[in-house]
Amino acid sequence: MRLILLGPPGAGKGTQAQHLVAKYGLVQLSTGDMLRAAVKAGTAIGRQVADIMARGALCPDDTVVSIVEERIQQPDARKGFILDGFPRTVPQAEALDRMLAQHGIALDAVIELRVDEDALIKRIESRIAQTKARGEKLRDDDNPDVLHRRLAAYREQTAPLIAYYRRHGTLRSVDGMAPILEVAAQIERALEEAERTAKPAKRVAAPPRRRRTAKRPAEKPPARGRTPKKATARASSRRKAGDRRKGARRRTAAPKGLPRRPRA
Ligand code: ADP
Repeated sequence: MRLILLGPPGAGKGTQAQHLVAKYGLVQLSTGDMLRAAVKAGTAIGRQVADIMARGALCPDDTVVSIVEERIQQPDARKGFILDGFPRTVPQAEALDRMLAQHGIALDAVIELRVDEDALIKRIESRIAQTKARGEKLRDDDNPDVLHRRLAAYREQTAPLIAYYRRHGTLRSVDGMAPILEVAAQIERALEEAERTAKPAKRVAAPPRRRRTAKRPAEKPPARGRTPKKATARASSRRKAGDRRKGARRRTAAPKGLPRRPRA
């Protein structure tokens, strides 16, 4: 199964991704985590994006696309993955389409977590307060000003993906404001529905149907557009009529019951 979790910062994508990992054994591919790891490791990409991330802006499309492309080819991602935080722009979504087509794979669903922005701000503020209370280090972008910038980036650059995936027919929306387990249940139902509606298309392309189609030219085509049944019925009635005519000729030649005239 391959899916995208779509929603603004704090919508609960990470939490729901963990549920899906546990339930379906998929890998969670979070571009935020990958980029943070690159920053921490001080790689070339990390140095390029550190300031951008701290400001709450989006990193360059090319950079993010290249790390995703490399990641989805690794063995653990072959049987399925959840993209969390990617794509975040229309060019990223287009690059993902191209990348999946090249590898001959398709997305099963795009799950949108619908949330109310005011509630989100409260959610993230309380997440910041809890992290501080535990004495843990905050993320560089975990502060109210940056949060507003991240939300603005979502509205301007990521929200258009909802229409993009609606056009593709892969979008399913769930209520991200519901309790965590209820959201998880809604996502499971959305995935079951996506699977049910995807089946007829898969059956059309299945090999047994192609074999039947391939046999068809070998069958005798019905004469002059008649259906084989009608053609058979006509042939048999012609045979019967022929038999009657032959019988009539025989009867004429040697009528039963009349004595033969002796030869002279
Ligand atoms: P959030 O808490 O907003 O869901 P993430 O952990 O997904 O955050 O991402 C944190 C930051 O990493 C983003 O604000 C952005 O700078 C960068 N980032 C992550 N994914 C992408 C992406 N697909 N495109 C561009 N930038 C990204």
